[in-house]
Order: sequence, then structure tokens, then C-alpha cells
Amino acid sequence: MNREDHWGFATQGIRAAEQRTEQMEHSPVLSLSSSYVFHSAEEAAAVFSGEQQGYIYSRFNNPTVMAFEQRLARMEGATHCVATASGMAAILTLFMALLKSGDHIVVSRGLFGSTISLLNNIMSRFGVTATYVDMTDLAAWESAIKSNTRMLFLETPSNPTMEIADIRALAEIARRRSVLLVVDNCFLTPVLQQPLALGADIVIHSATKYLDGQGRCVGGAVVGDAERVGKDVFMFMRTAGPCMSPFNAWVFLKGLETLNLRMKAHSENALKLAEWLRLQLRVRRVLYTGLPDHPQHQLACSQQSGFGGVVSFEVQGGREVAWKIIDATQMISITSNLGDTRSTITHPASTTHLRVSQEARDAAGVSEGLLRIAVGLEDIADIIADLEPGLR
Ligand SMILES: *Cc1c(COP(=O)(O)O)cnc(C)c1O
Repeated sequence: MNREDHWGFATQGIRAAEQRTEQMEHSPVLSLSSSYVFHSAEEAAAVFSGEQQGYIYSRFNNPTVMAFEQRLARMEGATHCVATASGMAAILTLFMALLKSGDHIVVSRGLFGSTISLLNNIMSRFGVTATYVDMTDLAAWESAIKSNTRMLFLETPSNPTMEIADIRALAEIARRRSVLLVVDNCFLTPVLQQPLALGADIVIHSATKYLDGQGRCVGGAVVGDAERVGKDVFMFMRTAGPCMSPFNAWVFLKGLETLNLRMKAHSENALKLAEWLRLQLRVRRVLYTGLPDHPQHQLACSQQSGFGGVVSFEVQGGREVAWKIIDATQMISITSNLGDTRSTITHPASTTHLRVSQEARDAAGVSEGLLRIAVGLEDIADIIADLEPGLR
């Protein structure tokens, strides 16, 4: 056991995988070099053969990127992590590394839009098929599994309706049917939810969101065990190269140091906003599992240590009223990005879900009156004051 094994979660986020050169930097150093040199031909051969540890080439092993990978792996309770150029590159890398032509995958409806496009428009060309299920319906997951199914893939909570899936129950189904369970943990991060401890096999991240936390860089990661991630996913990365840039890894590494504090503060602000929203006359319903009367509140408490920073709500009057509320804000940013210190507001039906069919939108509960706020870290009184005129 090394000393990192004894550290608590907050310490892991700040100190795990700390690296120093002989200059003894206190803050992590940015290793901006495409390749690394050897003292001798013999050493080069030893590193290339894997006999000796060492850096070779930044497509697959860069010191700053590896520090980010090792720290995130620790925080998710995993041994291995492969960092990628974006969250979508993480999902593509996962599929390319672990699926082959003829394979089938079961996914939750209401996935991130580009994940649906990746499956329907790209993976389908390589002979990979997908079945979409209601993620709260365990029987639907089970009955969608076929002899060629390789994995179950989901996001919990879902965007933008904030429904959650029972990770423990799905892990049991996955184990019994010998398929992998993959969870996109972008909305809650390891601070609020650790899918691997609940039985999932692999965790996906878009580092672009909360891991950065200040809207600067695009990145992603695949986290899991030695076999699937350390070997298969790493081999795909080494060969095909959808890798994270060292600069972005350095930004994310600093982001991880404050992630624990930030996620708790996002959750605190979001709960206060949800409580305020449900007292407003124009608001028909508030979708936030932190509210004690939310139908999935108990399930959320059993697998999450917080409820996250995203609150959705439905207003009476459909699109017209929803747009007015957006246009009446002066501080909150009108953008569909999330995971930033700054609060953002979006109307999913006309933005993120514009290209989703009306039928699929109805099935996912994305109505014309639905608004989504990714609650930032401003004073909650200022966030509320910014929404008040539009809701009056
Ligand atoms: C943003 C997002 C992605 C894609 O990540 P990028 O970094 O934008 O490529 C995947 N899944 C979820 C849940 C996301 O929110």
C-alpha cells in the first residue's frame, strides 16, 4: 500500500498523482513536449518493451495527462483511466475499443444528443446496433438484452429531465447477463456519485463540464479496470490517438483540486433554487431529486451523496412564457453549456433537443414549457433575483 491509499477523498483530489521534476515545483508542472528522450539505446528498448517505466510519446503517455488520469481514477475508485480529447472522444474510444461489428448495445433514452448521433449515424455504419429503453424501467433493460449485447450504457441523472437510474439494480442485471455496465458520470462527478462502487464496470466523463468547472477546455476520460481500460481502451488510444492535450490536462488537474468543494456548493445553490421555484405560481413542476417529495428522492439518497447543480422546471404557457423568462434574465448566461461557476439557462426543446423528433421529445418529457438551469456559484439571492422578473 502506498500513502495515497490512506488518504481521504478531498486529499486524493488535491494530492493524488502529484509529480515534481528536479526543480521541485509546488503547483503541477505542464509537460509540453510531444516526445521524451532516453539516456541510451538500451534504455529506449527497455521502455518500448514495457520492461522499464518511462515516457515515450504524448499521443499515449504524457506526464501531465497521466497525472490527471491517475488522480481521476483514484477519485472514481478505479485503477485505470484514459484521458481523451473530449467527452465524445471518450465515448467513441470506449465503443471502438470494446465493440465490434455485429455487437448490440442497450442505452437509456434521453442520452446526450451527440451520443445518440454517434450510435445512430456512425456506429451503425460499423455494424453496431442500439436499443433505447426508459432508464427507470428495469424490466425494459433486461428484456432488451440479446445474445449479441455487449454493454448497457446510461447517464444518470438524465438531461434535462433529471430522472435517475438504479445503478445497483442495473449492475446486478449486467453481471447476471454477462454484459458491461457503463455510466456517464458527467452530471454528478465522483464527488456526488461513484458508479464503480455501486457495481458499474466503466465510467465516462466529459471533463469539459464540472471537472474543469470554469468553462475553459474540452476533454474527456474513460475510467475502469486494468483489463478493459488499462489494456483495451489504452491500446485503441495508443493506436488511433484521440488524446487529451497536456495543456488541457493541466487545467483539469487544477480543476480536480477544487471539485469536492465546488460540487457541494453547486448542489447547495441548486436545492435553494429548486425550493424557491416551486413556490412560484407560473411553475407547474420542478425536476430536482433533492426535493424530498420527488418520486426518486429515496433512490437518489441511496446512490448519491448530493443532488448536483442542474435544476429543470416546467412553466405554464409553453414556449412563449419559457422564452420570456430567459429573455428577462440579465446575469444568467443564455447557453446550453453546464458545469461552470456561472449559472446558465436553456430551453431544451428549441436548442439541445431541436433535432430530436417530437415523439422522442415527448417520451423524454422535454415539453415546450421546460427550462433547464445549470446553477452556478454566484450568490443564490442574485440568481433568484435574476429569474424573478420573468416569473412574475
Ligand atoms: C457534454 C456531455 C458529453 C460530451 O462531452 P464533450 O466534452 O462536449 O464532447 C457527454 N455526455 C454528457 C452527459 C455531457 O453533458
